[in-house]
Amino acid sequence: MNSQRYTDREINLHTHSFYCGHGHGHIAEYVQAAASTSLKALGFSEHCPFPDDRYRSTRMAYADRQRYEADVASCQGAGDLKVLLGYECDYHRCYHQYLAETGERVDYLIGAVHYLNRSEEADDPHFSRPLEKRDLPRYADRYCQMLQSGLFLFGAHPDLFTYNYRRWDEETEAISRAILACAVSEGIALEINGYGLQKKVMQTEDGFTHTYPHPRFWALAAEYPDLLVVTSSDAHKPGDVAYGIEETAAIAHENGLRLAAYFVDGRSVTIG
Ligand SMILES: [Zn+2]
Ligand SMILES: [Zn+2]
Repeated sequence: MNSQRYTDREINLHTHSFYCGHGHGHIAEYVQAAASTSLKALGFSEHCPFPDDRYRSTRMAYADRQRYEADVASCQGAGDLKVLLGYECDYHRCYHQYLAETGERVDYLIGAVHYLNRSEEADDPHFSRPLEKRDLPRYADRYCQMLQSGLFLFGAHPDLFTYNYRRWDEETEAISRAILACAVSEGIALEINGYGLQKKVMQTEDGFTHTYPHPRFWALAAEYPDLLVVTSSDAHKPGDVAYGIEETAAIAHENGLRLAAYFVDGRSVTIG
């Protein structure tokens, strides 16, 4: 096997673009922007559309996915930057086969939980309304189902529930432990997300903190020595392609967490 090893700071696999409707800039502009950063590899992970266009308000139309994939492919192999094609996916068991087929077609998938439905039919992004304590176990269940599906390279922003649940209590600790333990037992890395550093700062018992990455979550992660972590910019505009690279690595270092390396063989990616 002739795989190329990238340190966490040399690669970013969590990148969006204009395709999702709330991102900005074209694929080629991100590739161009990466040239003035420390990145040696850049992966695109547009929010994955579903065949029934579920969650259409926050992602591209299903019909656009071939255009997106061709657009990324056209940037591959042109310069020194390694360019990879992926998707960031919300996981539902009912879409498992579709996501598995998508994962075989592209270079990698990353998993996340952006939607915490009140029912199977009512899809609302969980960061569009305050979460209640009773919502939290469902977030953890959904996140662990995603990790256990075997489809994903890493779990994105596991602490995103803190965006609309603004306190740290016994329930947040319990669901964080459930997610951390699941990631360890599945051997899947969790992501410290740079995009959260651009969002609201809140006052908590710990002083002013970002909602995510949440300091309590990553402090708790230190109790799981086998946990692997990665950092990503989660860029939604070209200038942010390496956003938060120092700050997210500092969160890992301050908490003594194990930053993973990436191994890329052709277009196949693993983390170790
Ligand atoms: Zn997005
Ligand atoms: Zn996300």
